[in-house]
Amino acid sequence: MYPAQFDYYRPKSLKEAISLLKKKKDAKLLAGGHSLIPAMKLRVSSPATLIDIGRIKGLEGIKASKTSVKIGGLATHAAIESSPELRSACPILAEAAGHIGDIQVRNRGTIGGSLVHADPAADYPTVMLALEASFTLTGVKGKRKVAADAFFVDLFETALKPGEVLTDVNVPVMRAGQGGCYIKHRHPASSYAVVGVAAIVTLADGAVDAVQLAVGGATPNPVLIKTVHHALVGQKPTPAAIASACENVAEAIEDPLGDLYASGEYRTHLATVLSRRALTEAVKRAKKQK
Ligand SMILES: Cc1cc2nc3c(=O)[nH]c(=O)nc-3n(C[C@H](O)[C@H](O)[C@H](O)COP(=O)(O)OP(=O)(O)OC[C@H]3O[C@@H](n4cnc5c(N)ncnc54)[C@H](O)[C@@H]3O)c2cc1C
Repeated sequence: MYPAQFDYYRPKSLKEAISLLKKKKDAKLLAGGHSLIPAMKLRVSSPATLIDIGRIKGLEGIKASKTSVKIGGLATHAAIESSPELRSACPILAEAAGHIGDIQVRNRGTIGGSLVHADPAADYPTVMLALEASFTLTGVKGKRKVAADAFFVDLFETALKPGEVLTDVNVPVMRAGQGGCYIKHRHPASSYAVVGVAAIVTLADGAVDAVQLAVGGATPNPVLIKTVHHALVGQKPTPAAIASACENVAEAIEDPLGDLYASGEYRTHLATVLSRRALTEAVKRAKKQK
């Protein structure tokens, strides 16, 4: 399997990359190459030009402030998994990064590449939705911020416009009384999420104050299950209350994806089971987060 011929550029700066994106017709950015190169080998994608941003300095950092963490678009899954800043300020994201592929994939793949590729079976999009993260997109006209729930538009389709680079991801710092958990049923061959669930629970005085529950892998883009928030707010997070709230999960999954490995019905079932497990673990962690 060989890709079609292409021209290759390796810009040294973001400015140069953006200018190349503007000049070159039918160009694609190359970051870790772990989604784009296989797609090119299968000839699902045949860009005339590749602009390799993998060595641009300054796009890979992870910086925490009091309220948010800024992650460069070129940060690898391995850097996110092992970042002391993220492990303390937003542990659910480090946890999700650790579930991606294998060590080779985590060493090369980047957060920007994963989000822009928008594979329905990817792990980050689900976590980003639950975290209410935002993305900075930089192009010739400057920067704009897009919230995660507006970024994922359809299967492999995002709000990124031609000529733009995803330069950073902003996630909130988790507060006292908050706990998060990402859990997935992994495909045995690829490790992608057949279904992945991200749960963030906020507790106040022993009762549930807020729940952000997102399910990925079952639909073209991850979905936020708002009914679970409404069912649990004000209640004590008992196993019975969590199980009853999760009875609503299936209703939010319209037209579930199905394939040879997992039917739509099975994915919907997994979504309910994993939601219950992720919420139970998130509550446990929230209780420890004083
Ligand atoms: C064997 C294997 C197992 C995997 N398992 C998992 C898994 O379990 N979970 C999971 O979530 N993923 C998995 N992946 C996918 C992996 O996480 C990829 O690394 C990721 O999807 C793409 O990141 P990348 O840096 O390799 O992007 P690339 O492949 O370089 O690019 C992907 C797309 O994003 C665009 N792009 C890249 N960076 C930017 C940017 N900063 N701004 C704008 N556009 C950009 C490119 O033009 C391209 O269209 C797996 C991949 C492989 C090969």
